[in-house]
Amino acid sequence: MGSKGDNVAVCNMKLERLLSMKGGKGQDSYANNSQAQAMHARSMLHLLEETLDNVHLNSLANPSPFTAVDLGCSSGANTIHIIDFIVKHISKRFDTAGIDPPEFTAFFSDLPNNDFNTLFQLLPPLVSNSCMEECLAADGNRSYFVAGVPGSFYRRLFPSRTIDIFHSAFSLHWLSQVPESVTDRRSAAYNRGRVFIHGAGEKIATAYKRQFQADLAEFLRARAAEVKRGGAMFLVCLGRTSVDPTDQGGAGLLFGTHFQDAWDDLVSEGLVAAEKRDGFNIPVYAPSLQDFKEVVEADGSFTIEKLVVYKGGSPLVVSEPDDASEVGRAFASSCRSVAGVLVEAHIGEELSNELFSRVERRATSHAKDVLVNLQFFHIVASLSFT
Ligand code: SAH
Repeated sequence: MGSKGDNVAVCNMKLERLLSMKGGKGQDSYANNSQAQAMHARSMLHLLEETLDNVHLNSLANPSPFTAVDLGCSSGANTIHIIDFIVKHISKRFDTAGIDPPEFTAFFSDLPNNDFNTLFQLLPPLVSNSCMEECLAADGNRSYFVAGVPGSFYRRLFPSRTIDIFHSAFSLHWLSQVPESVTDRRSAAYNRGRVFIHGAGEKIATAYKRQFQADLAEFLRARAAEVKRGGAMFLVCLGRTSVDPTDQGGAGLLFGTHFQDAWDDLVSEGLVAAEKRDGFNIPVYAPSLQDFKEVVEADGSFTIEKLVVYKGGSPLVVSEPDDASEVGRAFASSCRSVAGVLVEAHIGEELSNELFSRVERRATSHAKDVLVNLQFFHIVASLSFT
């Protein structure tokens, strides 16, 4: 029993130490494969605005900085656009209320392996306080102080009662770990033959769902300690419309079809042992609205202002939709930008290249289906803390 517990600790630590989206600015990097996420985020700005309009503004008597956090910021420009939007919107609210805006601080937070360097290089220059107001209106400048915060959002990251607004987009569907039973050959929930929950059995689904709900509960507990009274959270993660968790919707198509088949190719070609494949599982769970709601209600610290499933659309950006090879390439790059680091850690770079070339080939030959059916839905939660 003792040694089993030790293994769990090592396992948990591993994912947290390992996971990142692909860094840099290359073809398969997250920075280069997140335009669709940017579009989906833009289509939800009106919902973010509603959340920001509910945030309590500090009065003159309490001139501490207004503090915004982006959790799971990754390394592209998306997080900077969001923080810019938040700062501008809140500044405007101060103006309208006839109160001098305070200084702003933004924290970009992600796991320690995140490519913070690429993110920091993308940051626009900070403007001095004296021209803050003119510069707020001008694009290409930054009117807030920044810092990067490495660590898992499933634990505490900030001192108590210091944060006005938490934002997190497209991140909370990442579990803190693959549920242990799913890769344990002796367990009834062993996900034999599969690398994702999509299309798997009921016991596997239950293990994934439990992990998601336990993780979300930890997330809420940590944030409830850190958020200021009157503060808020705006959370967006992959979600599904089906009640059945083994139908993971868009995530299911991304990780449960061509990606799955490409693993099976490697096994049938003798390049990877079946057990090695079965030891790999994507630590992602797209919850239903109900899955999400149950946890927020059980925690009870936050008031639900809004909780909806929102249609995001395709994660692929292709200039020639009729060009099957471009669609196949985009599918493989998109898949690799989010799962490539984990795959490489499991089977090495060379086999990972083999795997993703098969993903590309398979997606190319199903290009039409990929374009039409690879659609993401998101859970959008606006939560307030009083
Ligand atoms: N918010 C960005 C990036 C989303 S990609 C955007 O809108 O484009 C998802 C990010 O969540 C990744 O960078 C990943 O490293 C991060 N992530 C996953 N699990 C995490 C955890 N437990 N703690 C902090 N960040 C995590």
